Amino acid sequence: MLDNLVRKNILALKPYSCARDEFKGRNANIFLDANENPYNGPYNRYPDPLQEELKARLAVVKGVPASRMFLGNGSDEPIDLVYRIFCEPRIDNVVAMAPTYGMYRVAADINDVEYRAVPLREDFSLDADALLAATDSHTKVIWLCSPNNPTGNALERAAIEHILQEFQGIVVVDEAYSDFNDFRPFRLDLDRFPNLVVLNTFSKLWASAAIRLGMAFASEEIIALFNKVKYPYNVNLLTQQQAMNLLNDLQHVNLWRATVLRERSHLLPAIAELPICRAVYPTDANFVLARIIDAERVYHYLIDCGIVVRNRSRVELCDNCLRITIGTPEENNALLGALRQYRGR
Ligand code: PMP
Repeated sequence: MLDNLVRKNILALKPYSCARDEFKGRNANIFLDANENPYNGPYNRYPDPLQEELKARLAVVKGVPASRMFLGNGSDEPIDLVYRIFCEPRIDNVVAMAPTYGMYRVAADINDVEYRAVPLREDFSLDADALLAATDSHTKVIWLCSPNNPTGNALERAAIEHILQEFQGIVVVDEAYSDFNDFRPFRLDLDRFPNLVVLNTFSKLWASAAIRLGMAFASEEIIALFNKVKYPYNVNLLTQQQAMNLLNDLQHVNLWRATVLRERSHLLPAIAELPICRAVYPTDANFVLARIIDAERVYHYLIDCGIVVRNRSRVELCDNCLRITIGTPEENNALLGALRQYRGR
């Protein structure tokens, strides 16, 4: 199945061979093979191209074997790689829901691949059959985002499974925000769906957007393609070290999760009570979408108060909507205080 989906040049590609790959498995302590500078250790050495130590640790936390895991420079990297591996520029196309995370379209545009956007229903639920109807014989990928950005809702599992079963191409389920709910993550179902790619990131629950570390989970065959096409040393040593530090201190991550969820449960009803609020949409993520009277004005008013939220008013189905990230208790109180004082202008 996979061979028919992969671009011919990628199938035929002979990947770059790293100096360290060639001696692997043997003992050595003098490295004169990679034209590095012998001083300034450990930063003088190229990092592990496959991040094996980090993946072994992550395998335990994520419940997915290292062989089914790809690590990249943020989720941006696997998003881009999906296009470069599967989509022939100007010939193939992808289908996605709308509204959703903007990088799927940007990466399509960069790779010169047609992007077909299919609206969600009014309640932001996924119309699986509408997405399937938008596909044709050149559709290589369907992009799903659950919980969805900017709407915040997790998509119905049955609808995602329907697409995974019916569609013959690759289905990407971006679960960047799945740590903020208790639904079963799709990365645990790779055995059932050979066409599934799941995205996770260190940028959300793991509070490490600055280190740029994204994860993709998929079959070993798909992971092998990612590894073939990626830059050889795509995840730098500092990032690998910092991720290990975090993985050795999971107490913090659990505390952050509990705090964000508690704050979310306080913030939602408080926003809903504001006279300027038309609707607060149910969220399974660490942000909430709120429909506000005169969102544009409220957005600028908040900026004058030193508070930045995301104005999504010009996004399909999101007229007059602000997307608000759950912050610390102090930040959330400051936001509520400012909104309560807003008098329209
Ligand atoms: N996926 C989704 C759905 C997102 O909303 C975001 C961040 N805005 C990302 C991925 C970005 O992840 P990363 O920082 O790993 O590139």
